[in-house]
Amino acid sequence: MADWPDVLVLGGGPAALCIAAELHQCGVVVEGIAPEPVEAAWPNTYGIWADELTALGLEPLLEHRWTDTVSYFGSGGTVQQDQVTAHGIDYGLFDRAQLQQHWLKRAAGVRWHRDTAERVSVASSLSTVSCSSGQQRQARLVIDASGSRTPHIKRPDQGPVAGQAAYGVVGRCSKNPIEAGRFVLMDYRCDHLSDAQRSEPPTFLYAMDLGDGVFFLEETSLALAPGVPYDVLQQRLQQRLDQRGVQITEVIHEEFCLFPMNLPLPDRTQPLLAFGGAASMVHPASGYMVGALLRRGPALAQALAEALANPDLGSAALARSGWRALWPLELVLRHQLYQFGLSRLMGFDETLLRRHFATFFALPQEEWFGFLTNTLPLPRLMGVMLRLFALAPWDVRRGLVLGAAHPQPPTFAQSEG
Ligand SMILES: Cc1cc2nc3c(=O)[nH]c(=O)nc-3n(C[C@H](O)[C@H](O)[C@H](O)COP(=O)(O)OP(=O)(O)OC[C@H]3O[C@@H](n4cnc5c(N)ncnc54)[C@H](O)[C@@H]3O)c2cc1C
Repeated sequence: MADWPDVLVLGGGPAALCIAAELHQCGVVVEGIAPEPVEAAWPNTYGIWADELTALGLEPLLEHRWTDTVSYFGSGGTVQQDQVTAHGIDYGLFDRAQLQQHWLKRAAGVRWHRDTAERVSVASSLSTVSCSSGQQRQARLVIDASGSRTPHIKRPDQGPVAGQAAYGVVGRCSKNPIEAGRFVLMDYRCDHLSDAQRSEPPTFLYAMDLGDGVFFLEETSLALAPGVPYDVLQQRLQQRLDQRGVQITEVIHEEFCLFPMNLPLPDRTQPLLAFGGAASMVHPASGYMVGALLRRGPALAQALAEALANPDLGSAALARSGWRALWPLELVLRHQLYQFGLSRLMGFDETLLRRHFATFFALPQEEWFGFLTNTLPLPRLMGVMLRLFALAPWDVRRGLVLGAAHPQPPTFAQSEG
C-alpha cells in the first residue's frame, strides 16, 4: 500500500469537512491539513431555508427555526412602514456544532494534520503540499477547501470582486427591535436615513429573534466593490434602531462579515481541485453556500472515487474529472446567469432594488425559492428570469437591460474601513 493518501484536503471549515466526509464515505483514503483543530468552533452563523434541509433529511441540524419569515420592500417609489412581504416558508439557523459533528462523524477515521499549506506542486502522478511546519505531504489529488482567499487556485481576473459586507450584533435590547418570534430576511426600509445617505449604496437589515430576549441584528450590503465599510454599516444599524427607540443593552457577539459574491469560476484545467468558497461555490445572488455543499458534496465524492479507482490517472487527470463533476456545463451556465443578474443589481439604487425585490418575491414560491437555492434546471431558471423581467416595473426592466439607472453606480463619500 502506498504511504500517501488518495486525497489531501486543505482547510478545516464547512467545505473541507464536507468533502473529506463524503470521500471517506465512498471508501477514499483522505487526509486533511488545517491550521486549527477541526473540532474548534466556527466563527460564522449559518442560515438556510428549512426546506433545503427537509429535502436532504437534515432538519435536526437546525438550532432555530422561524415560520414567521418576512421582508420589507415597500411598494412603488415610497417605503411604507407597514408593507410586509410574508415569505410563507420556514427559515432556520444551523446549530454550528451539530453541523460540524455531522461531517466529523461521517469523516471518522480521516487523519487531520495541524498545519498550513504554503505551496502546492503537481508532478504527473502525485501532488505535493509544502506546509509552514516544513513538512511535505503527498497525495494523488489535492482539494483546496481553504476558502475564497486561497492563493493556490487560479481564476481569471475579471476586475474588482464585489463583497457582501455585514456588521451584526447578537444581543439584548431595551425593547424588541423586531416582532417577537420573527425572522426578517431583508428590511429595506430607509426612512431613518438622510437624503445624502439614501443616495449611497443601499443596505438592509437581516434580523432574527433568537428567543430569551436575544436578537441577531445585521446591517448588510448585498454586494459592492469595494465592500461597504464596517463603520458605515454599524452607523446605519444604530440609526435604524434609534428610529425605533431601541437601545442595545448587551452585546453578546459581534459579527464582521465580508466574503466575495462574484468571484470568477476557477480555471477548470488546473491540476488541483477546489471545493467550497475556494471553488466559487457561493451563490452570486444570495451569498449562501452551505446548502450547496450538502447537495453537491456527495456527487463530487462519488465521481472522484470512480476516477481514483483507475490507478493510471495522475493528479491532473483526477483534478479534471473533479472539475467536470463539480462544475458541469449546466451549473456553469446557471452561475453565469446569476452573475449577470448580480452585476445589474449592483448598479441599482435603493428605490430600484426595493422594486426589484418586491417583484421577485411576488413570483410563485417554488420559483423564488428555486432561484435562491440554485435548484432550478437551466431552462426553468431562464423562464423564471424572463417572467421576472416581464413582471418588473419599467424602470427595473430598463436597469436589467441597460445596467444602472445612473451613469455610475452610487458610492460612499468616505470609503475607509
Ligand atoms: C460572516 C459570514 C456569514 C455567512 N453566512 C452564511 C449563511 O448564513 N449561509 C450560508 O450558506 N453561507 C454563509 N456564508 C458564506 C459561506 O457559506 C461561508 O463563507 C463558509 O464559511 C465558506 O466555507 P469554506 O469552508 O469554503 O471556507 P472557510 O469557512 O473560510 O474555511 C476555510 C478553512 O481553511 C483554513 N485554511 C485557510 N488557509 C489555509 C491553508 N493555507 N492551509 C490549510 N488550511 C487553511 C481555515 O483555517 C478554515 O478552516 C457566510 C460567510 C461569512 C463570512
